Amino acid sequence: MIKKILVANRGEIALRVFKTCKKLGIETVSIYAQDDSALKHASAADTNISLGGGALADTYLNQEKIIQIAKENNVDAIHPGYGFLSENTDFCKMVNEAGIIFIGPSVKAIELMGDKKTSKVAMEKLGIPLVPGYHGDDQSEKTLLSEANRIGFPVLIKATAGGGGKGMRIVEKEESFLEELSSAKREAQNAFSNDKVLLEKYIVNPRHIEVQLVSDGQGNHFHFFERECSIQRRYQKVIEEAPASCLTPETRKEICETAVKIAQGINYVGAGTIEYIYAPDNSFYFLEMNTRLQVEHPVTEMTTGFDLVELQIEAASGKAFDFKQSDVKQVGHSFECRIYAENPDMDFLPTTGKINTIEVSPQVNYRLDCGYSDGNSISTSYDPMLAKLTVVADNRDLAIEKMQKALNSVVFGGVKTNIDYMKRVLSHSDFKSGDIHTHFIKDKANELDKEELTTFKKLKVISGVLVEELLSQDLVKVWGSLNKPFERVFEIDGESLSISVNLKSKSILDISAKGINRTVEISRKTLDDLKFKKFLFNKSGDYQVFCNGAEVIVKLNGKAKRFDGAMAISEGSLQSPMPGKVFKVLKEKGSEVSTGETVLILEAMKMEHAIKATKDGTLTELYFNEGEQVQGGVVLCEIE
Ligand code: ADP
Repeated sequence: MIKKILVANRGEIALRVFKTCKKLGIETVSIYAQDDSALKHASAADTNISLGGGALADTYLNQEKIIQIAKENNVDAIHPGYGFLSENTDFCKMVNEAGIIFIGPSVKAIELMGDKKTSKVAMEKLGIPLVPGYHGDDQSEKTLLSEANRIGFPVLIKATAGGGGKGMRIVEKEESFLEELSSAKREAQNAFSNDKVLLEKYIVNPRHIEVQLVSDGQGNHFHFFERECSIQRRYQKVIEEAPASCLTPETRKEICETAVKIAQGINYVGAGTIEYIYAPDNSFYFLEMNTRLQVEHPVTEMTTGFDLVELQIEAASGKAFDFKQSDVKQVGHSFECRIYAENPDMDFLPTTGKINTIEVSPQVNYRLDCGYSDGNSISTSYDPMLAKLTVVADNRDLAIEKMQKALNSVVFGGVKTNIDYMKRVLSHSDFKSGDIHTHFIKDKANELDKEELTTFKKLKVISGVLVEELLSQDLVKVWGSLNKPFERVFEIDGESLSISVNLKSKSILDISAKGINRTVEISRKTLDDLKFKKFLFNKSGDYQVFCNGAEVIVKLNGKAKRFDGAMAISEGSLQSPMPGKVFKVLKEKGSEVSTGETVLILEAMKMEHAIKATKDGTLTELYFNEGEQVQGGVVLCEIE
């Protein structure tokens, strides 16, 4: 009997597990790193314990410390969430040895499935379809190159210990194979301390379809249907849905039954996911199994009605489930949007900052899994996912409509997020018709670009800014006499707009720019009609403004140029786009570089960012060494 659970994780997933524990009357223990002490999970459990400060290895990845806390608090079980220690066999062993239940599968199952190579070998034995490729032991460049040629380009290099797209490279042609191989190996070594790779035939325009499984503690295996996760950037999922719109009932049955066959074949216990790659010719291949709860599990919960965390806990207590496979039904259509702190218009670069306000609207019926609250800061030490927004409706079209409404009603003030970008994806005609694949975001990049606002829309934004300002002022005192127009310069998304402003009466404002005129009432109602919201965005005084569904950055009064600091910097200076660590310096001081060549690699938010030369020339200055921390916006090196 499990009476007390420690969640070895943070943020939304820790809260998700606590929610089910509460429902089941199970006591909870949370752990938190010092820099997370203001986050909700740090105070959401019955007992909340600080892990202290330091690197991840000292906090959420400190296995000894976590087990020590679990023992001291007499917990019966540890739920690892996803990421962190969830698929770490050493941790799982240590938990078991401490006499504590690990809420997840056996060490053996994690070991088998945690490695892309060993899992492929096991699947071959079970007769599960695999992507044509090479997963042999010989890792010499010569063998890998000749295998790549045998498979035929394009080829995909994958780190065998990989996850989250790390250590993965698409190679289009033989000539670039060795260079991509060494870069994949370097990334894999850094991320997983294991640089072994395997090769797969690269399937052009596939879909990512996965099946949710839960096996009980008595050898019964169940599937909870499929999810489609084809909308990805950097191999990471952004929008997921259930069911997959491309499957016929026959293929759905086959894909789900294949997943159950895998669970049976490896005597699985607990929740797991079989990921498939689904080719345009409707064939599907096993990709990998994730031996934990997935980020996107809510779409399965919304369409089947099962609480997957509850099933995980039941399975871990050794119980048999009290339902049959035929009781599991997939009803309606569900979408999940992952809200990331990132800038999709700058190559999805993660952003940091302080969340001023999180606003949600009670009018739309959705589920928001979010580990952050007002005033929390986003740290570069963790994944940039802020929240998950999930909706369910009777069919796919209605679910898209509902998600659009939900996205319109959620605001993370003060940080740049991908909310606006996901609205663009949902409105794309191919997305709406279900014509999607894993390269959708890349292929449709131009069509998904942020549209430049028309002068008319810019005037709407400015009218909101001015009305808000005027509502809090003694109008005539600040503005002088009525009916005397004057100029003010605003910058919207980096572009200057000179505006003629005229206070016609104490309640009517007239503004115009480029021959377009707009008259508004100075009232709260004007702001409500515009759905106007304004948040301080950064220390240089820029504001983030939401207005009629658009999100823009506005600098008031045009007193200073938006990028005044950056403009003083010469063309050949390469700046760090965000705070991070110099991971690799590829060019020596004094060497020649050409445009587009990578000079150094910055590591931030668990990703590598290549800093590339913006012009041909000599690398005259290199201000940082490998391993050094850098602030966002600092000059890293100079090219002359
Ligand atoms: P990871 O464990 O790093 O997430 P996966 O093996 O699950 O790696 O693959 C991640 C994504 O890469 C998949 O969702 C799919 O979009 C793409 N992918 C994987 N294998 C192939 C392949 N053979 N051909 C084309 N795309 C692939």
